[in-house]
Amino acid sequence: MTREMPHKTAMFILCALMLWVRPLRAGVQASTVLNYNEFIDTGDSWWNDREFFNLDDPERVWQYLTREVTVLDSGAQTPVYLLDKPGGERVKKGQYEGFLYGSSVSVHVLEISGDWVYIEGYDMTDDLIQGWVRASLLKKVTPSALYGIVVDKQSQRLYLYSNGQLVTTLKVSTGLPTKAKPHQETAAGEYLIVSWTGGFWADNLWCELALRFNGGDLLHLVPSLVAVDGTKDYSTTEPYLGQRASHGCIRTQRVKTSEGINMQWLWDNLKMNTKLIVWDDDGRPMHYPDPDTVLYYNPDGGRYYHADERCPSVRDTFLPLKGIMRYEQLRDSTFSRLVACATCNPPLPPQRVDALNEAQGYTREQVEMMQGLRGNSAIDADSGVTASAYTTPSEPMIVSDEISGEIVFE
Ligand SMILES: [Zn+2]
Repeated sequence: MTREMPHKTAMFILCALMLWVRPLRAGVQASTVLNYNEFIDTGDSWWNDREFFNLDDPERVWQYLTREVTVLDSGAQTPVYLLDKPGGERVKKGQYEGFLYGSSVSVHVLEISGDWVYIEGYDMTDDLIQGWVRASLLKKVTPSALYGIVVDKQSQRLYLYSNGQLVTTLKVSTGLPTKAKPHQETAAGEYLIVSWTGGFWADNLWCELALRFNGGDLLHLVPSLVAVDGTKDYSTTEPYLGQRASHGCIRTQRVKTSEGINMQWLWDNLKMNTKLIVWDDDGRPMHYPDPDTVLYYNPDGGRYYHADERCPSVRDTFLPLKGIMRYEQLRDSTFSRLVACATCNPPLPPQRVDALNEAQGYTREQVEMMQGLRGNSAIDADSGVTASAYTTPSEPMIVSDEISGEIVFE
């Protein structure tokens, strides 16, 4: 009897389980007969709506930031490969291309064929790719209604919105692609912040407060070099906020804005599924770098201006570079003869940006108005350094070539 009871109990539980599981399975099967038409998008590019380009219309931006998105329900770090036909081959086969990270990467659904859907989205190489995936992966997500973020690759700024208003503007550094590593460009697109990942090492740089939005691309604090006593040194990264510098991540400002907001604040206050739009810069007028962007040169006859105080192209005897200037000073006759270094990739000279914009039909004034550099103080509210902090050295004598000839990819 004592031996039989557990057996009978087990049988009873097993029968109960079978009765319970059957209707559940039937329910699961029924739910897969979804109407995938509800996922269909127009197929327009994310950036076709000209109104969205106007950051001075925060209510319009807010509509985008709170709009429902379609993602692939595969986990935030699981790549979903797009195929050339249902059950076919990968559309692109490189290491960093042809796939989208599910859960956090927004896709557009263009066509439906049985259990397969034809979608488009930006892959890690910043390429808008199209291909087939299984329809059962589709999932709609309503973003957090508290905050939303636009990262503009052109102005290298993060714009934080809430409730239809611009809250603050932070300086960032998105990815700096090189010939050897074009995948370092931060992909454009529409993303969700899905994980509070924390700190990690990238070579010798300590990156912390990292929020995951696109696989290995994270929004995090501007990285530091950490001394043996734990002291953090931001001098090799912080001056470059406002220009491309990272390997794909979005490095974000440490100094608090006048609104009291920095990366730590974002880490503390953003919610799961906050939308982050990385605004593409293709086909747009070229924005001017922050006038206060720090640049370096060799006052002893250097011909180039550099983004890196310790630019590897410069002979060691001249390092660290002693000439310090602001980007705006490149308009002065004293500095306008300096040429952009081809190794450390400082921003293009303002005269060159003027010419590129004029070729597209934009005047300098128009573009600076669009950027908010004129008639709008929001852009400069985050600057933690004043112009007087920089030296104004004497006119550089263009006499020698400091370049060692070595091209280094970071
Ligand atoms: Zn350089």
